[in-house]
Amino acid sequence: MEETHKANKRLKTSKELNEVVINYYIECVEAKAKGKPVGWMPPMNGAIEIFYAMDLQPVFPENWSPVCAAFGLTPKNFEISENMGFSRDLCGYFRNFVGYINSPMNGEGIPLGGLPEPDIIISPFGGCIPSLKISHNIERRFPKARVFSADIPMVPVEEIKDHHVDYIVKELHNLIGFLTEVTGRKLDYDRLKEVVAMSDRACELWDEIMTYRKYIPTPFSAAEIGIMFVMVTRQGTQIAVDFLTKVRDEVKERAENGIGVIEDEKLRLFWDNIPFWYNMGLFNYFEKMGGVIVAETYSAAWSLRLDKDHPFETLALKSLKSYPLVSCVSIEKRKEMVMKACENYSIDGAILHRNKSCPPITLGQMDIQRALNDKLGIPSLIIDGDHMDSRNFSMAQFETRADAFMEMLLEKKQRNK
Ligand code: SF4
Repeated sequence: MEETHKANKRLKTSKELNEVVINYYIECVEAKAKGKPVGWMPPMNGAIEIFYAMDLQPVFPENWSPVCAAFGLTPKNFEISENMGFSRDLCGYFRNFVGYINSPMNGEGIPLGGLPEPDIIISPFGGCIPSLKISHNIERRFPKARVFSADIPMVPVEEIKDHHVDYIVKELHNLIGFLTEVTGRKLDYDRLKEVVAMSDRACELWDEIMTYRKYIPTPFSAAEIGIMFVMVTRQGTQIAVDFLTKVRDEVKERAENGIGVIEDEKLRLFWDNIPFWYNMGLFNYFEKMGGVIVAETYSAAWSLRLDKDHPFETLALKSLKSYPLVSCVSIEKRKEMVMKACENYSIDGAILHRNKSCPPITLGQMDIQRALNDKLGIPSLIIDGDHMDSRNFSMAQFETRADAFMEMLLEKKQRNK
């Protein structure tokens, strides 16, 4: 089993997240036991709200991979998928999940009761190739599950037009028709509006929490970003709204009372790309030199608002926007987003994680580095790593480069005083 390094969290509510995670996975296992249909699906689209509105159980394979990383299960899963012939260069989520479903899935040592087998598979015809291939492998592994192939065009956010939205609205209606046929459950339109309203409230709270990170010192660092669990798995539920309300209250209180993540915040840092799920403690690394990671790319995925009075159109827009917001469907848009975040959060330096197993989010980093330097005078450091596979990361190399970068930032700040 791999050694994992947990983040040092400062928020009380962040620690309550463990309970939220455990309850979600218990609910998934119990749903199956009680005969509630279980659907496996990719995250960041409108299917989650449809599932909760129809009282079906959504399960997210991509989210299970960070759980495996946090519990040190990835080496075993990688071994299985690599023995099946999948290259080490492929996405870590993909290799981990294929390994997991081809192991004794819920055998001894599997945390949180494991995942219940799917009755339904929502297969994405959009997003990145690995996420598509995860679905294909799931379909092969669970041939009895009914499959819905969801066609989601990948359009840069700035180029989304009405006809794209209309197309996804039709896809959502097809999905609802499919779910009714497979499960016998019908969608109640008023219930969908309620679910969309709760989803919107969660997004609003998310944005509010992110806004408090602009305070100096910041009350919330990337080490607490695990709260995104509720945005991935619980969007459209009161559970997400209640949890995020508590986080917002605590972050607001800390911000307004000048309570920072560390006592003496000297440098404010930005993190680009996915965290190291097996080593979230890395987010605390910079604190020894007064550095705090106050913003990151990933959190932009939930910075959306939804309109409960037009639930289908709003879910269509969410499905079109969420993935392109954080990946390189448009390099220009991603560059613009990073630059804006660096300005808004008063960033001194950016850490660009060159993620070996995720080209879609890594592409464009050289452009971003140049733009940060030329337009904002913000230095950045590219570090090599992998969001899932610790074999692609060297702590010694990281320490040498990160320490030198921090020293340079401190000197620069001192000079500019
Ligand atoms: S976006 Fe990156 S991490 Fe996510 S499934 Fe695709 S390749 Fe893997």
